[in-house]
Amino acid sequence: MTARPPGDRAVPGDCDLCEAARITPWYHEDGVCWVADCEVCGVPMVVWRCHGTDPPAGDLRHMLDALARVADDVLGAGTWSVDRVMRQVPDHFHAHARDPHWWFRRFGGGGGTAGRQVSLPR
Ligand SMILES: [Zn+2]
Ligand SMILES: [Zn+2]
Repeated sequence: MTARPPGDRAVPGDCDLCEAARITPWYHEDGVCWVADCEVCGVPMVVWRCHGTDPPAGDLRHMLDALARVADDVLGAGTWSVDRVMRQVPDHFHAHARDPHWWFRRFGGGGGTAGRQVSLPR
């Protein structure tokens, strides 16, 4: 095991999100961000085009809007919430739209959709 020394920050050329590899379907792209399925989680995520963690308010709103449009389409309106915890790439802003079943769908095995629930209107 080799631990990265502190201060050895990933340079943008090294960053998976800057690379923006199209390994999953892309739903949306523009000058500010792109939205695609997260390769790891299988849910839509929005990725900022800039390498950094602190998008200006306007960009942030734009990105959450873009994510919302895709997530409403893919997951269903009202079934998901924004997860802004950046686990995989902590130094490049991105946010996931997660529905309550994503973990089961992704990792629960079986791949069956029989138990898929639609959340009831309140
Ligand atoms: Zn993910
Ligand atoms: Zn990056």
